[in-house]
Amino acid sequence: MAVDPVCHAEVDESRSPLRAVYHGRTYYFCSAACKAAFDRNAARYVEEGAPEQGGVNGSRAGLLPRH
Ligand SMILES: [Zn+2]
Repeated sequence: MAVDPVCHAEVDESRSPLRAVYHGRTYYFCSAACKAAFDRNAARYVEEGAPEQGGVNGSRAGLLPRH
């Protein structure tokens, strides 16, 4: 199961046609409204909990081996 980045609902990625690719990752949505919100401001949802200020923190970078 994937998690809708907008409302955090679980989404069955094999059944949902609602998806978006952002920075090389695929995100799935429970509804067109959630996808529309993501399309408008993807960074807001993707960057959740990952503060941009202060530069890269070593421990956080280790926890998030993405990109
Ligand atoms: Zn949703």
